[in-house]
Formats: sequence, C-alpha cells, structure tokens
Amino acid sequence: MRATERIIVTGSVQGVGFRPFVWRKAHLLALAGEVRNRGDHVEVLATGTEAQRNSLIEALRQGPPHARVETVTRTPDMRIFTGAFTIATSEAGALHSGIVPDLALCRACRTDINTPGSRRWHYALTCCTDCGPRFSIVTDFPYDRANTTMAPFTLCAACRAEYENPADRRFHAEPVACPACGPRLYYTGPAQPEEDPLDSATRLLKQGGILAIKGTGGYHLACLATDTAAIATLRARKHRPTKPLAVMVADADAASAFAAPSAAELLLLQDASAPIVTVRATSVLPESLAPGLDRIGLMLAYTPLHTLLLAQVGQPLVMTSGNRSGAPQAIDDETALHDLAGIADGWLYHDRRIARRLDDSVRAVVAGQAMTLRHGRGLAPRRLPLPAGFASLPPVLAMGGDLKAAFCLMQDGQALLSHHLGDLHAEGVENTARQALADYRSLFGLTPAFIAVDAHPDYVSHRLGATLSQQRALPLHPIWHHHAHIAACMAEHGLGPDTPPVIGLALDGTGLGPDGTAWGCEALVCDYRTAHHAGRLAHVPLPGGDRAAREPWRMLLAHLDTALGPDATTRAVAQGLLPALHNRPLDALRAMIRTGLNAPPCSSAGRLFDAMAALLDVAPERLSHEGEAAMRLETLARQNTHMRPDSLLPDMRFALARTPDGLWELNPAPLWKAALSAKAQGIAASTVAAGFHAALAEGLADLVVKLLPEPADTQEPPSALPGFTQAALRTVVLGGGVMANDVLVSALVTRLEAMSLRVLRPAFAPPGDGGLALGQAVITAARARMETI
Ligand SMILES: [Zn+2]
Ligand SMILES: [Zn+2]
Repeated sequence: MRATERIIVTGSVQGVGFRPFVWRKAHLLALAGEVRNRGDHVEVLATGTEAQRNSLIEALRQGPPHARVETVTRTPDMRIFTGAFTIATSEAGALHSGIVPDLALCRACRTDINTPGSRRWHYALTCCTDCGPRFSIVTDFPYDRANTTMAPFTLCAACRAEYENPADRRFHAEPVACPACGPRLYYTGPAQPEEDPLDSATRLLKQGGILAIKGTGGYHLACLATDTAAIATLRARKHRPTKPLAVMVADADAASAFAAPSAAELLLLQDASAPIVTVRATSVLPESLAPGLDRIGLMLAYTPLHTLLLAQVGQPLVMTSGNRSGAPQAIDDETALHDLAGIADGWLYHDRRIARRLDDSVRAVVAGQAMTLRHGRGLAPRRLPLPAGFASLPPVLAMGGDLKAAFCLMQDGQALLSHHLGDLHAEGVENTARQALADYRSLFGLTPAFIAVDAHPDYVSHRLGATLSQQRALPLHPIWHHHAHIAACMAEHGLGPDTPPVIGLALDGTGLGPDGTAWGCEALVCDYRTAHHAGRLAHVPLPGGDRAAREPWRMLLAHLDTALGPDATTRAVAQGLLPALHNRPLDALRAMIRTGLNAPPCSSAGRLFDAMAALLDVAPERLSHEGEAAMRLETLARQNTHMRPDSLLPDMRFALARTPDGLWELNPAPLWKAALSAKAQGIAASTVAAGFHAALAEGLADLVVKLLPEPADTQEPPSALPGFTQAALRTVVLGGGVMANDVLVSALVTRLEAMSLRVLRPAFAPPGDGGLALGQAVITAARARMETI
C-alpha cells in the first residue's frame, strides 16, 4: 500500500550533494515526494510502497561519498505525493548545520580541466557536488549559493542547465561555475602583454621567483621546491630561518618520487581533506626545506588552480602560508598585495572571496595510526559525536589554549572544534580569534551555559573567556591544562561522562599545574570530573623562565646540575664534552637557580627533550619554532643503527621513587650520567638519542605499573586514590604535544599493550594545545551535571 513517510537525516549532510543523491535514489525507486535542507538536517518526504521506502532508507543510511550520516529517523506523514520526486527550496531553520569541510578536487573534475574541448578546460575554479570549496565560502546557513561567496556570480545558461539537471554531476553544486560566468584568474607582477595569468605565474616560478597564490583558505607563498636559491630567498624574506616548509606535489606518484611516504601516509595524502602529511624525506629534495629533520611535510595539489599550475611548472612547489612572519595568513586580495609586497614577486589570484581563514591541516601517521597535528582546511568544521550521556548535558564554550589556539562548542552531544587559529600572542591573532568566535556563534548558533578556560590566569584565552563570562553572566570554569589533554582523548574514544577513571599520561612543553609549578610530564588518575596527580618527572628549574623554553642549552645546564651537581657539569665542560655550554653565562644561570629567582620549577617533558638535544649537539642555540630541538632529537634517534641501544646503554634509565607526598617520580639522574659517559666513550649520538627515547618509554611504562591495581593482600596499596575503584584502571590515555613523537609513542604503546592495557591516543583532535578546548568542554559539561544532581 502506498503511504508517505517523513524522514530526517542528520550528520554532515549539507554541501555534499545529499539532495541530488536522494533525488536519484527516489527516481530509481519510482517514489514520489520531495527533499529539502532544513537548517541542520535534510528532510525527505517519500510516498511509495513499504518496500520502496525501505530501500530508500537503506540508501540514506549510506549517503553520497563525502556525507557522514549520523541518524535517520522516520515518521508517518498524512500527505500523499503524486508525480515526480522533486528538490524543494531550502528553509532556514534551527542553526547549527551539517556544513562540510572543503573538499579536494575530484577525479571527474580533474578530467574536465585536462580535456581540451571541455567547457572547463584549464578553468581554475572548476568544482562539482563531490569537490570544491565549502566551509571557506559559506557566509550563512542553510548551505545554498546565496549564502556563499559565489552569490555575486550569476549562473550562465549552460551552468544553470547542469545545476538544474538531476542527472548531472553538478546538480545543485552550489559553487558551480565556468569560464563564462564564474570567478576569473588574475595575475599581478612581471608579465608579457596579454599573457594568460597562469603562464605569467609559471614563468615567474621557473625563473626562481616567489609567487603569492590564493588557495582555498588563504594565500600561500610558493617557489620551486627543487631550487635551493629560491628557498633561501623565501626564508630570508619571510624571516623564517629553519621552520620546515611544506611542499605541494601534483599527485600520489609525485609524492613517492620526491619523498618516501608509507602506504598509510599515501592514503592520508589522498584523503578528501588533502592535508599536509609528514613523510620520510629522501635526498631528492633539498635539505633546506626541513633543516636537520628526516621528515618533510607534503600535500597533493587540491584545487584546480594548484593542479594546473603544478602541471605547467612540472616540479613540486614550496607552499607555505602567505603571511609576514608571525602574522595571520592573508585571505583577501588587497591585504595579500599589500602585506606580501617585499616577499612575493608576483600574485596569482581570483575573485572568489574567501569567507574565513583556514590554514592547511597537518596530519601524520604516528606509531601506525593517523593523528591530526593541525585542525584546519579540509577537516573543520567536522563535529565529533560525543559518547552517550553527553547529549543531555548543558552547552559549553571552551576557549582552548594560547599557542595553538582553537575553541570548542559543545552542544546536544556533539563537539565542534574550531579550526586552528594560530598563536594568540602573535600580531593580529587575538583579533582573528574574536572574529572566529563571533563567526562560529552566528553560523552554529550556540548559546553556552558555561565558559571553560585554561586555569592559567595569564593565558590570553583565559582572559577572553573571563570577559565573555562577565558580559553574559555565565559561570567560568578554569580547567587544569593536563587534565584537559587527557579528557580530550577520552571523549574522542567514546568514554561516557560516567566512565571509571583511567591512567592519563600527559607530556608536553609546559602548562600550569594545581600546585603552581609548570607541569609537562604527568601521570594522572582521572575521570572527567576529577584528576588525581599520581606521578611526574622530577622537578628541575627553568633558568630564565620563558627564555629556557627557547634556549635548550639553559635546560641542559639545569638538568646536568640537578642530576650530577655543578662540579661534575663544569668538569665535563672543561673536558670539551659539552659544546652547547661553551662560552655561556653559566655562573649567572646558577645564581638564578640557587636563589630561585626567575628559575621556577618544572616537570616538563618538552624541556627534557630540549636538554638532551643540546647534550647531543643537535639543538640550535635558540629555537626558531616550537618543538624544533625535540624534532631533531627524534630524527637523530631514527638514525640509530644499533639494534638494541638499551642493551648497549643499560644504565640509561630513569629512577622511579615515591615522594613524601605520595607522587611517583621519574628521576632522570641515572640517565644523564649514562648519556654523558656514553658521549665520553664516543658512542654514536644517534644511539644515545634512541636509548633516551627507549628509556623514557620504559620509565613511563614502569610508572603506569605502579598505578595499576595489584592482587589483593600484597605489599603496600599502590597509591592513595580517594574514591576511585582501582580495578577499572586498565586504560591508559595519552595526551600532550610530545605524543606526536613517533619513536617515543611506538615504544610506549608496545610496552603498555604488552601488559594487556588498552591504550587510547589522540586522532581527531590534535594531541597538543590545539585539542585542549575539547577536553575543557567535556570536563566542564560532566562537572556541570554533577552540580545539578
Ligand atoms: Zn568535482
Ligand atoms: Zn557558467
């Protein structure tokens, strides 16, 4: 019997060709009815037999390629539709929509731009329902052309015919365009008269020039990745001496020709998010792209413009963000022309406006699993469905951290982590963050009941959140930095608000701990609501405070003096074993350490890596970007050829002991002694670096063992954990920026899994401060519920 059903589909279902998909299925099944976007979901009204409707439901659960269907609900409807199934006009509804991230150029469109005679041959802004800009062009919801930056371009007759033909690949593709009606390409810079912009840009690049090029989420600066002189010029003009530069290649084959991606990395490279993926470098590309590192950031050409340019140039291109050092990436043409003068020699751009700045996403395969290191273009604004139990909790706005700023909106059991906003201390970024916040609030319509911030009162993000909380009279929840790191990872792995406690290992640079010291290598026994500090790296001073984070030799002195005493350190300097400490103001630093003036105690893992990199002479005198020394140390460790560095260096280990206040403390004193003596014996630095990573993994695993429940009636109770059921502690959750270190994480996961422990690692949200906001949000929501019970 024919009947009508109203079907609601939620998830990422707008901007992915969902309505045409429904239309085609309905026609195949001979159903009558209609489909429309309604604010945050797609509504289908279908009249037909039960069998026909069931087949449609089955198809809806799958959806088209880039959709992510979360729920499909069906209810009977009294209307009876006759005639052909149609696509109805969209309606603005409740905000908070399923708008999808920007999508890389699809295969069919790639064919279009490469086929002479095609209407879109060489057309740099080609797209369809399976590819093209989305979040970067949206100005309002629902997702319709009028609510994108394509609104000023009126479809020509041919494009309109495609747009209205349900059988066409561009049916209801909102950014659809062609050379006759769409945005055009422009070029500013040295050129021949009447020359095609793409040809001028190609010539500029081939001559070693620097090109500013408009991408999906902002401007890039490009030059030949094979030309060391061009790379040197770009670095000098951008004041970016050593920070790795990303390289764009034409396709997966080119990626394998110019570097050595693994099979898993090749898959990531070809993802529709087209991220920068860090892969093993070979000697094919110049070392100056990533000095001192054995990894290079690669991405595939992801827009038709990039694809055409790379085909004409015939070589990989450096593709680094188009900004003056420290400032946000330029997105509008005037700013790019103005701000990048003096850096770029030419500009290649088009008149499709970028609605919001989206940095390239960065992903990596860490110990066999994909991890997001920067959440940007192609990934944002994905929503993370939270585990059952969060849906009924009050909405929260979490402000994240400062260095890799990103905020998080949590509502209706979903977390929306913003795209990467940059360093809030850099010029213009605080303003960018304010705008982004307003942007997300208007697009996604969150009305928070709570504001969550990092507990550090000096964080810019803390101040922004505190101001908002005052303006809106909302409770402010300060969240401890390392608890937030662990909670973020718990949430993305489906642990519900009532989850029993887990063991969290949070390793990063520094974050403020509840005891007022700078934390950075901590073991927590925690659920969402409470965190019990159970272990840490032994304290060392940070001589010079913030300067100690930028100058690794300071940390080398602090660590050696703490571990071996000043006399032994001085002797080693005199013996020429410590070039990093030559001609340094050691006495001044020691005075600081002695008096405790500007030398606060820290338990930072990041600073431990810095110090070890300085010992092994791979740390620069002064870091030019965060993590530089640690990344070089990891590279050094991978160069080790000794099969078992830990058997060669048996004393290279941490001591583990309990402090008077019950903390398990990893003391690196034996490690420093062994490393220094290995250096004196002439053991390869790479072997010592590998031994260090192994020792840290071993130390952390030993610490975890101390926190595990022990068989009843043996020895002392494992540790004082008020209110926790120890039997549940079989899950170890990793967090913090150090967890992007493949050598460490591989060794650590192997050890933990050998003990039959379940190990959870960040994948959706970055392990570092870019993922903090997610953790802050879920902690606050879980606590808010406890208060209301
Ligand atoms: Zn396409
Ligand atoms: Zn057209």
